[in-house]
Amino acid sequence: MDQLIVLGTGNATVTKCYNTCFAVKGEEGTILCDAGGGNGILAQFERANMKWDDIHHLLITHAHSDHLLGVVWVLRIIGTMISSKKYEGDLHIYCHSSIIDGLVQMANLTLQKKVTSLIGTRILFHTIFDGQKESICGREITFFDIHSTKLKQFGFTIQLSSGEMLCCLGDEPYNPLCAEYVQSASWLLCEAFCLYEDRDIFKPYEKHHTTVKEACELAQSLSVPNLVIWHTEDKRILERKRLYTAEGQAYYKGNLLVPDDLEVIRLC
Ligand SMILES: [Zn+2]
Repeated sequence: MDQLIVLGTGNATVTKCYNTCFAVKGEEGTILCDAGGGNGILAQFERANMKWDDIHHLLITHAHSDHLLGVVWVLRIIGTMISSKKYEGDLHIYCHSSIIDGLVQMANLTLQKKVTSLIGTRILFHTIFDGQKESICGREITFFDIHSTKLKQFGFTIQLSSGEMLCCLGDEPYNPLCAEYVQSASWLLCEAFCLYEDRDIFKPYEKHHTTVKEACELAQSLSVPNLVIWHTEDKRILERKRLYTAEGQAYYKGNLLVPDDLEVIRLC
């Protein structure tokens, strides 16, 4: 059984939930994707009953604060566990080269030597390229450049144990240049900043984001059976699931999920 553990569902400036990040868990291990914007990742891990010594693979989509700064805390907690012999094996981090440079600098600036000295020996960075395939936790993962005009960013596909494909588009609208990676997905993880009807309030397009309507139109046009939308505003978070689902169902006939933080979604 594969699970999608939703650690956060919000955009960069939310205060009522955590920034969007998640884990894919299966029999051969758990893959963490992004880490949100700070030490809230520690609280979300605890609430989700996850253990840091189960995490050996971390994928990073891009260098924005709400995705990357939590990684410093991941380095701190896992690095401390390694140095006190409470963590077996290595931590592998997959991201593009300028993120590696930035993270190493941030680590050197903010973390103790007992942690930073592990970089290159127990904390291992892997540079990713467009179209690169890796085998991680027994799954084939393919990284692809989402062709962002804002900041270099990668999406990826993960093969599920059923043989189906999960595709994470990162946190920008779909670019048709990525079609070959997205077309065969059974699960699409897509940002949707706000309701289409609230576009004049939250101005998603100015921020290179999309709305529920457009994410759902995309999933419908690609015939993707399952769509997860997140990376949202949080002004009416208690109504978010109901309102976003209602708007989305007018444009998408598949299985639409608008998770709250800490929901666990069964993938297969
Ligand atoms: Zn973001």
